[in-house]
Amino acid sequence: MSQGFVTQPLSGWGRFPVEQCKVYRPESRRQLANILESCEQPSFISYGLGRSYGDASLNSRGGVVRHTRLNRFLAFDAQAGVLECEAGVSLAEIIHYFLPRGFFLPVTPGTKFVTVGGAIAADVHGKNHHQDGTFGNFVLDFQLLKSDGEQLSCSSNNNSEVFWATLGGMGLTGVILSARIKLRPVTSAWVLVDYQKATNLEDALGRMTESDVRYQYSVAWIDCLATGRHTGRAILMRGNHASANELPAKIRRPLAEPSHARWTVPFSFPSLALNSITVGTFNCLYYGSHRNSARQLVDFEKFFYPLDAIYHWNRMYGRRGFVQYQVALPLEGGLEGLKELLTRLARSRRASFLAVLKRFGKSDPGLLSFPIEGYTLALDLPVASGLIPLLHELDRMVLNYGGRIYLAKDAVMTSQTFAAMYPNLGKFRAIKSKLDPHGLLSSSQARRLGIVER
Ligand SMILES: Cc1cc2nc3c(=O)[nH]c(=O)nc-3n(C[C@H](O)[C@H](O)[C@H](O)COP(=O)(O)OP(=O)(O)OC[C@H]3O[C@@H](n4cnc5c(N)ncnc54)[C@H](O)[C@@H]3O)c2cc1C
Repeated sequence: MSQGFVTQPLSGWGRFPVEQCKVYRPESRRQLANILESCEQPSFISYGLGRSYGDASLNSRGGVVRHTRLNRFLAFDAQAGVLECEAGVSLAEIIHYFLPRGFFLPVTPGTKFVTVGGAIAADVHGKNHHQDGTFGNFVLDFQLLKSDGEQLSCSSNNNSEVFWATLGGMGLTGVILSARIKLRPVTSAWVLVDYQKATNLEDALGRMTESDVRYQYSVAWIDCLATGRHTGRAILMRGNHASANELPAKIRRPLAEPSHARWTVPFSFPSLALNSITVGTFNCLYYGSHRNSARQLVDFEKFFYPLDAIYHWNRMYGRRGFVQYQVALPLEGGLEGLKELLTRLARSRRASFLAVLKRFGKSDPGLLSFPIEGYTLALDLPVASGLIPLLHELDRMVLNYGGRIYLAKDAVMTSQTFAAMYPNLGKFRAIKSKLDPHGLLSSSQARRLGIVER
């Protein structure tokens, strides 16, 4: 089988930037190792399912290794709920095979079209961060292929420095080959959800602080165009897994995956389709149509992955793509920081169709892991003239409040901002240079952020 590559335009989920990349698709570990050994390219980066938004898995100056064919389940211990699988396995595949057996993901991002390798490399968080931390908390160990071909087994006890550098390390320490993950036992595929409206940001954060402890999962949709005393008005959606005996009798198979209609956005929308008028109208209708309600039974797809029902929804932002701007702000000053961001954004008349607020629990030990105890806000902003200067202005605000930007979403941050936001960067660089002295692992993002030189 050829180890050749195809040169093709590639992007992350935000479709910005788009870069010509040399893409390899190994089908076995042997082929993967040969690609790295052959040194055909000056550098390589792993690509999972391309659900990071910017250029974290792009490499315009080298090769990109896609992992989607390295997706085998290797072992499952049903007693302990421990799954061993290759890194190209997607979270969707795990749910498909293990939910009917009574197991769900311990932490899941807002899409299930993410690989295990991508979930480890970004140390992803879910709606349960305030209780459970990141994905890394449930990774018992993983096998890492270094750029010199050596394979390391890493856990919090074994090669622990490498373990903590790889969690959140965006593929720069090595190629994750496989991992052992502890799954969560569940007795149904359903979630019992409480919906509450909050009149503004203080109200939303107050409710979260007061009662998030009762919910394993907590998230809020924010109306980012509301201003004045309504700034940050929100709908809180918080819930817990339903047990099988909480389901009505008509649900005969509590662990069955629900079947939903799927839609596809067939082509890129015109750039102006999502503007402050259309989004403002949607926000008013959405906020107005919600009522407070308790213990609504919602299937896991609708609760965790509402956007997965629309294939290629990223085309709604037009050909130029969009940036997802996700910040974390500490508890202290977080409310003021969020208000300042939302006010500045509303003033810019740039509308985010999606604006999601969560509370973060304690920070995680991954050297470049994103969460810090406090709050996180994610906004989708279509690429248009003036966007990048605006985002740099917002970066400075975030920095002033002691916050940071999520690498899995970033497409525009400067190296100075990044270094100021991530205090463990020096430690990370030191570990990377021991693991990969010739700098064979590199991405467009890593060069932009100055994590690597070439
Ligand atoms: C709709 C949507 C909702 C999302 N919601 C959340 C959320 O709630 N929380 C959250 O944390 N994230 C969220 N994300 C971001 C997403 O979870 C992360 O970007 C994740 O890393 C994507 O995984 P992937 O498999 O698509 O990897 P890619 O996007 O292809 O790559 C991401 C990074 O992982 C590295 N990588 C991939 N595979 C390997 C491997 N085998 N070995 C080493 N490195 C590897 C890449 O080099 C890159 O640096 C969301 C994304 C979308 C599109």
